[in-house]
Amino acid sequence: MSVTMDTLVSLCKRRGFIFQSSEIYGGTGSCYDYGPLGVELKQNIKRLLWRDFVQSRADMVGIDASILMHPMVWKASGHLDHFTDPMVDCRDCKLRFRADHVDALPWTHYCPATKGNKFTIPAGEPCSHCGARRTLCPDCGKGELTAPRQFNLMFKTFMGPVEEDASVAYLRPETAQAMFVNFDNVLQSMRLKLPFGIAQAGRSFRNEITPGNFIFRTREFEQMEIEYFVNPRDAVDGRPADEHWHDRWIADCMAWFRRYGLREENLRLREHEKDELSHYSKRTVDIDYRFPIGWSELMGIANRTDFDLKQHSKFSGKSLTYFDEERKEHVVPYVIEPAMGVDRALLAFMADAYVEDEVRGEKRVVLRFHPELAPVKVAVLPLLKKREEIVRAAHAIRADLAKQWRVVYDDTAAIGRLYRRQDEVGTPYCVTVDVQTVGDSEKGETGDGKATIRDRDSMEQIRAPIDALPGLFHDLLSGGAWSQVAVRFPAAK
Ligand SMILES: [Zn+2]
Ligand SMILES: [Zn+2]
Repeated sequence: MSVTMDTLVSLCKRRGFIFQSSEIYGGTGSCYDYGPLGVELKQNIKRLLWRDFVQSRADMVGIDASILMHPMVWKASGHLDHFTDPMVDCRDCKLRFRADHVDALPWTHYCPATKGNKFTIPAGEPCSHCGARRTLCPDCGKGELTAPRQFNLMFKTFMGPVEEDASVAYLRPETAQAMFVNFDNVLQSMRLKLPFGIAQAGRSFRNEITPGNFIFRTREFEQMEIEYFVNPRDAVDGRPADEHWHDRWIADCMAWFRRYGLREENLRLREHEKDELSHYSKRTVDIDYRFPIGWSELMGIANRTDFDLKQHSKFSGKSLTYFDEERKEHVVPYVIEPAMGVDRALLAFMADAYVEDEVRGEKRVVLRFHPELAPVKVAVLPLLKKREEIVRAAHAIRADLAKQWRVVYDDTAAIGRLYRRQDEVGTPYCVTVDVQTVGDSEKGETGDGKATIRDRDSMEQIRAPIDALPGLFHDLLSGGAWSQVAVRFPAAK
């Protein structure tokens, strides 16, 4: 079963993952705000990317560059001249369309054969009354369209107090260029040897004319890009080093998505055709994911050759080379670029985690997030909120576990309801405190100091001492399987 986009959008809003931006003012076109659970999920994705691709690797370093860069950066990169879409405008209603998308829209037609009656006709089809095809604005059906003009997708702004041509600046349309312009700074300050990579996570901006599909394509988005520099003169296993490393990165990125839960049948590699490649790219491979909208790009991994470093060297007049000690020569490294949209990855993880099953005849919605991705790791729930000792013990458990993980306390419903709520936001484990835990002081009974731990996916429950919880969750939340960890404790009745 696959989830629809509408179901995800509604769950995201209802449970505090993602809201429409500026909603009380009617919303901002294709801009979204991450809510309390969304921000945790997004931070987990970025943290895991950083841990697995930067922190744990000896050949990787990171930077965090400013969003506003020197305008010459975009001249050298080609964005100023070529980062454009062909646009047409309606002379009447002023609506703007991508020239290559106009024919894919249903169109409005005032039909002369039926006394000018208004019809909406499916995309690409002629009028069934008069046989006419669309020539005017598809939206208002009255205005003529202008000839196509190139429209740059970069957001333009002004630096400093004067709004004049000399002070024009752009919000970066990608994070990659900062790694190229800082190539020599990083190389010299860190004393690196090829091959090595520079990573960056941060916001980018593209003034897309037709954004859409929720957070799949937005005008402001977060990227994680890696520029991995290799010596094109080197060979690995008899192959050029750039080709070897390109394949390695494709395999590593695929493995990363699988590791955190994306299912094999929803992932595929797509090789770019020769005529699809950017002029500087030797080879580009996309990792596609089967989103609710169909197969679409999740990330791209390109071999950009020495194009970028050469361009920046040419425009800045600074040498951007690497000294090959063995061959005693300067080389311009080739670069392999794994580029991921963080928002897109988040959408894929949510879609893949969404499951509806049935528990005792009732529908249950579960987000089966990998525990390291889950926004909330543990929910502590009191079985009776009127018993002061139970509530006190539950708060104490939350506070102790929260030193290490995002842990919540909830007593606003009956226990069955509380479990459903946590399932729906993907919390992998719940801890329940009951009378047995704290005892009954009026009857002179002491508690056993144990709590019930429930697993989201199997719904199995075990009974474990409160002081064993930090160790238990450490094992469960750092990759230990429930089936292996839970056997250390008796099942709860
Ligand atoms: Zn119009
Ligand atoms: Zn007609």
